[in-house]
Amino acid sequence: MAIDMNVFRGFIEQIKMLPQMAQPTDCPDGERINRAKAVFAAKLDARKAVQLESCVHCGMCAEACQFYIQTGDPELTPIHKLDLLKRYYRREKAPWRIVHRLTEPEITQADLEATQPLVYESCTECGRCGLACPMGIDIASMVNVTRQALAEAGLIPAGLRAVEQEQGSRGTVFGVGPDQLRQAVEDLRTKGYEVPLDKERADILVLSSTIDILLFKDALEATVKVMNHLGVDWTIHSCAFEGANFGLLSGYESVQKSASERITNEAIRLGASLVIVPECGHAYPALRWEGANEHGEALPFEVMALSEYLGREVMAGRLKLQPVSKNRSVTYHDPCKVGRHGGVFDEPRAVLDALGVDLREMPSHGAVNFCCGGGAGLFVMEKAEPMRNAAFDLKRTQAESTGADSVVTACGSCRVNLMAGADRTQWQTPIESLVELVGANLK
Ligand code: SF4
Ligand code: SF4
Repeated sequence: MAIDMNVFRGFIEQIKMLPQMAQPTDCPDGERINRAKAVFAAKLDARKAVQLESCVHCGMCAEACQFYIQTGDPELTPIHKLDLLKRYYRREKAPWRIVHRLTEPEITQADLEATQPLVYESCTECGRCGLACPMGIDIASMVNVTRQALAEAGLIPAGLRAVEQEQGSRGTVFGVGPDQLRQAVEDLRTKGYEVPLDKERADILVLSSTIDILLFKDALEATVKVMNHLGVDWTIHSCAFEGANFGLLSGYESVQKSASERITNEAIRLGASLVIVPECGHAYPALRWEGANEHGEALPFEVMALSEYLGREVMAGRLKLQPVSKNRSVTYHDPCKVGRHGGVFDEPRAVLDALGVDLREMPSHGAVNFCCGGGAGLFVMEKAEPMRNAAFDLKRTQAESTGADSVVTACGSCRVNLMAGADRTQWQTPIESLVELVGANLK
């Protein structure tokens, strides 16, 4: 079902209010540098050191980054975003550090502040630059380390900080917590759905996200519909449903750990063998890749993105879909954190194939897909708006070149950014959710 654009615009307006809700940080000016350096010291291992030493200045990462492509601004060259980390490495850890100290100046607070827009507002940690780098330098992960350093130094941009502070102190995101989930479940029950809320044991724990509860309610409804249709033993839990992790996005590790451990501990208590992450890009690495690190050992359950689960059920023949129409053409936007970072490419395409639509790939798709521009929390950072818009314009050009009737994706944040861009530029092409298409066409 199409989203009421007045509701959508209201949501976007609320996001713009976030900076006013951010609390001051507890980091006095004199402490910022020490705290940032302490993070660098803890996170800079031999692998990162080798990568920082390996750059051959070929410029291929710049040609891969949507923000550089769209602006031509040399400040936005991906490897440049690691200058602060590299300077710390050279002065404090490198074998020739005594020599480097003659040429590399000490890090100042002004340096920390100058790095903030580079690693927060101009990088979605999409990983496209790392894929292009001939030396295999994983720039995105070191951008995240720099975010962690700035977070400890109290330099998270205000909009993102407001949400991180809310999730860290109250466990809610945009005011959505257990009560709002229970209300959403009641609404679905009123519509006739059975929703196994808060079961004591279940094979599958399904997560949701604030965006699906506040905005994309049809995605939650479709998820319930699909799980019931498959007849599996599943539950959704009011105390551990939120897939979004603003600790990961902001770089504030204690919040990241508490958000991820809440889910991990609940899944273990339930005896779940599988946790399904909703249509939320970063929720996938937050649990799938980072969850075990936060937990301190391998997770005793599997983690799948919803699009991955749907695709696997289709490929196994357990999920049968009603073909839509070959006359209906779609293009698929791979969410970076699920696709490039997670390897989930075939599964959503298997779903689209089962739906019988005419899939028209964008010139850059799959592993080399361009980010929507809103990832890694850019969609809640007001100052990131020019970057979000620039990335959207590139994405729109890519999508338009296919001539497809609609863009399908499997990430609520991508959907928000693409819809905001479409609204801004009067682009009429609908932005659709994969699970909603599935829910509407169950056989
Ligand atoms: S991770 Fe993505 S947004 Fe960040 S510098 Fe690399 S290509 Fe650009
Ligand atoms: S692509 Fe890799 S080697 Fe080339 S400039 Fe970028 S980081 Fe350096």
